[in-house]
Amino acid sequence: MIFMKAWMILVFVVTVYLLAVAAASPILDSTLRRVGFTTLQRQLKSRGTFSKNLVYYGGPVLQSATVNPIFIGPIPDSKRLLEYYAFLVKSPLAQILNSEYSTSTAQIGYGRLGTPYVEKDPLITGAKTLDDDNDILPYLFDLIVNGIIWPSPNSYFPIYTQPGVTVTQQGSKSCIHFCGYHGTFDISDLGIPSTPYLYYAVIADQSGTCMGGCGISRDPFENLCSVSSHEFTESVTNPAVSYTNSRSPAAPMGWFSPSNYLGGEVADICNAMQSTLIDPLTGKSWVVQQVWSNKNVKCMASDPRLGGTVQSTVQTSATTVTSKRTTTLLTTKTWKQ
Ligand SMILES: [Zn+2]
Repeated sequence: MIFMKAWMILVFVVTVYLLAVAAASPILDSTLRRVGFTTLQRQLKSRGTFSKNLVYYGGPVLQSATVNPIFIGPIPDSKRLLEYYAFLVKSPLAQILNSEYSTSTAQIGYGRLGTPYVEKDPLITGAKTLDDDNDILPYLFDLIVNGIIWPSPNSYFPIYTQPGVTVTQQGSKSCIHFCGYHGTFDISDLGIPSTPYLYYAVIADQSGTCMGGCGISRDPFENLCSVSSHEFTESVTNPAVSYTNSRSPAAPMGWFSPSNYLGGEVADICNAMQSTLIDPLTGKSWVVQQVWSNKNVKCMASDPRLGGTVQSTVQTSATTVTSKRTTTLLTTKTWKQ
């Protein structure tokens, strides 16, 4: 009896200690999760199903993306961003997409910078929070019906918000949970020929409290470029992401890695891994985020085998910024990456 009591006390003490450790130290929890993750990797590997490689699920891809940035108010560096996109759509990063992620029915080619739009309505530019469902999508709808933007099967609308504005998307907040996201807006009711979807992204300002969360550069503009290239490459290779279920991928999903635990879309697998590319025409250098190459089985920003005219010069891996991931928008609320 005495033995039993001592045993019970011991169990009690150990339990209280473990609970206290668990409550005081979130590291314990993440360590446990990491152990589970490794086990899962091993199981998948042994079954031969573990691969980061992207699989094509039959959905659309952007064959020659026309990038039409929307600036919600005066955005710092908006002019430089336009210059950036003009480079990005024809860069070695885009070349990788052309070479590897065209499909049997859709050849991906270089894109172009389309028409930017700067919002001036104080009702919109003065908002301190913008929610995807409640603000962004109705706003895009208004722009279309008022003839301000013209969606086409290849158009892409990255939306930029001002410093200090918080974007929310299905409960997640910019600068806390994500750096940006890309999504799909079903506009089939509008009856625009061959254009059932509008492809867009929302990219939060990277300065102030966002600094350091979405890239390793000390220049917020460079991190903004990195996030912009992440969303661009995913929008080209998997534009209809919002109308698919990543747990059982199928059309209209485009290119996607079924190994959710290590990836998702073309840029998720290489999240926050930045490279600097030099534009030979201007001599300017631009930061991009690397993408996954199925052919080379690694992350890269420029594939020497394609004979790109621009060389990757600086390559750094941001290992300290994994807590804030660039997210993609899914209507299924069970998965976010
Ligand atoms: Zn992503």
